[in-house]
Amino acid sequence: MTAKVYLVGAGPGDPELLTVKALRLLRSADIVLHDGLISDDILQIARSTAQLIDVGKRVGKKRLTQDAINRMLVELSGCANIIVRLKGGDPSIFGRAAEEMSALREAGIDFEIVPGITAASAAAAQARITLTDRKSAAGVAFLTGQQAAGKGRTNLARYASQDCTLAIYMPSGHYREISDDLIAAGLRPHTPCLVVANASRQNQELLWTNLLGLRSVVVPESPALIIIGSVARSHDEALAFNTIRTVEPLASWRENAIPKGNGAP
Ligand code: SAH
Repeated sequence: MTAKVYLVGAGPGDPELLTVKALRLLRSADIVLHDGLISDDILQIARSTAQLIDVGKRVGKKRLTQDAINRMLVELSGCANIIVRLKGGDPSIFGRAAEEMSALREAGIDFEIVPGITAASAAAAQARITLTDRKSAAGVAFLTGQQAAGKGRTNLARYASQDCTLAIYMPSGHYREISDDLIAAGLRPHTPCLVVANASRQNQELLWTNLLGLRSVVVPESPALIIIGSVARSHDEALAFNTIRTVEPLASWRENAIPKGNGAP
């Protein structure tokens, strides 16, 4: 059997934000190995005979290790044609795709990456802001609040710059520390910040604040990320500052339900 593994981006949650290619592969996959954050609305797209394996699930108290997931990918390639490794957002952004690709390379298994919409893009779209702006933000840095185990928090000061937007993934509740680090690195305390939780999902929450306010926000449900920089200014004067608001996602996908797969590639 010549197996191929597709490392597929599932986007931020709204099934309409899947790429056409992701949709096609999900509909034809024999096995779907997915992260814990993937919504049921997306998993339902797989055909009824596909084997769905949640590798984000806790087994007892422990989560599967990355090594175990890598091994599983290689082993499953011996018993299926199309294996979809479904990851939230874009597989190449904080998606641990590098480890999985290296295991597949080593085992001589063919693979392909199918990019997805990363959470920061979706969050910006939902808040109707842009991540760059030729007048004020020359670039955007995708950063993680947490580095790999043992490495601790990211040194955010290195990335602080007035004309670069920071999109901080996995802030893990360290809002005060993030604020302190960036103000100490020279960013203005009134630099706009936007926190978006569950971007594009029904339980989406938005919180408009600034670096000073970020120190005292009520941390929203995860997954959440923070967009920091002049682009993150609210355009609605009436919005309450520093208050979490549940905001209906812009897309109305429930009315346009995506049909299930029928096995046709
Ligand atoms: N590969 C993913 C990121 C995985 S890291 C991507 O490209 O989006 C997991 C982190 O992504 C979460 O801790 C959170 O910071 C962010 N994230 C993922 N989905 C999100 C969502 N729907 N809304 C807000 N943040 C999200």
